[in-house]
Amino acid sequence: AAESPQRAEEIRAADRAHVFHSWSAQRHIDPLPVAGGKGSYFWDHEGRSYLDLASQFVNLNIGHGHPAVIEAVERQARQLCTVAPTFASEPRGTAARLISDLAPGDLDRVFFTNGGAEANEHAVRMARLTTGRPKILAAYRSYHGATATTINLTGDPRRWPSDNGTAGVAHFFGPFLYRSPFHATTEREECERALDHLESTIVMEGPSTIAAVIIEPVVGTGGVIVPPEGYLASVRELCDEHGILMIADEVMTGFGRTGSWFAVDNWGVKPDLLTFAKGVNSGYVPLGGVLISERVAAQFDDRPYPGGLTYSGHPLACAAAVATLEAMAAEGMVEHAAWLGEHVLGPGLRELAERHPSVGEVRGLGVMWALELVRDRDSREMLVPYAAAPADAEPVNQVMAACRKRGVWPFATANRIHVVPPCNLSEAEARDGLAVLDEALCVADAYTT
Ligand code: PLP
Repeated sequence: AAESPQRAEEIRAADRAHVFHSWSAQRHIDPLPVAGGKGSYFWDHEGRSYLDLASQFVNLNIGHGHPAVIEAVERQARQLCTVAPTFASEPRGTAARLISDLAPGDLDRVFFTNGGAEANEHAVRMARLTTGRPKILAAYRSYHGATATTINLTGDPRRWPSDNGTAGVAHFFGPFLYRSPFHATTEREECERALDHLESTIVMEGPSTIAAVIIEPVVGTGGVIVPPEGYLASVRELCDEHGILMIADEVMTGFGRTGSWFAVDNWGVKPDLLTFAKGVNSGYVPLGGVLISERVAAQFDDRPYPGGLTYSGHPLACAAAVATLEAMAAEGMVEHAAWLGEHVLGPGLRELAERHPSVGEVRGLGVMWALELVRDRDSREMLVPYAAAPADAEPVNQVMAACRKRGVWPFATANRIHVVPPCNLSEAEARDGLAVLDEALCVADAYTT
């Protein structure tokens, strides 16, 4: 786009006058007008470009402006822009087949939604109808969406203002060795104790009342928490033992982010329901869905499924998904994401941790990484407290500002910087991003004691 500061001002003015933004105190935000993007970069109207280490909202797995996806959406728009969910359509059927082929186990049916929260809404509804049980167990330090059910599943402070206490959700602690709720000192200990705790929660809540356990296989916004070896497989076993369904929320982790098509593939675990959105078509057109196992799907062979959406399997969104998944496979993006994590991002971020006392821990895999920032490495006091008031978030805001000033845009949440770039980020781009983070972290170091 042509540079135009005046245009930027017009966009800003319309936004501030009329757009009501998510999660924000409306008077305290100043959203950057974005003019365009290509590959791992996006740019504003004033000639500044940014390396997108956030993949927008951790959804842009194939980067901005992929020509094959743009072409597929254009082609589909000329053919048929919209079709009611009661019809069959070519892009919907092909997308469902491709997604089922990639999915583990017998997850062979897809119910399409417009995004991740709706996918979790429907997975929960399916689990309740299948088991005839009311409750769902969800983890603290989780995010599952912002609708009534999914914000109640969510295990972070975003739930608090909307918690109606009647959603039939009980929370448990997942494993997180760095801030162990179980006073564990090794991954193995953390794993065993987290499983004991989950089992106790099931027993105390009453197995016969629990429809499902919903879990992010790698916790996303809650801190890029990678589970210890064996944890997810044992959760699967616990579920089987008690007739509880396992829902994997792969809205953030699905389609390459962890260096596998699905995060559960890293541990060979097969859930009963798997929810996705974001990476399925990189958000070029909104799309989410539920992958449904044979057992759950069979529940609705002879009775109607009580749920639907006008835009379920929207042709433009599904055409974008088909082109995205084909491009990802043809260009080896998932393998590249795994390689980048193992050989460039992981080692590079760990090297930063050695130099910067503000980095308490580096966690991640594939193109999904977090720097946990602390004031003190020994006490592990968070650089920004849990559920910080806006004023307390200043240190992390300053780190972000230092990155942006240098043309790099990571993702910041709580006391962490998340490095979650597109799967096809090049090695050179990754190294440029690491160099900028190296400079920006000095801002955080100044807060250490
Ligand atoms: N589940 C997870 C793990 C997510 O990360 C998100 C969004 O960030 C959601 C669900 C909600 O998805 P959406 O914002 O598309 O409703």
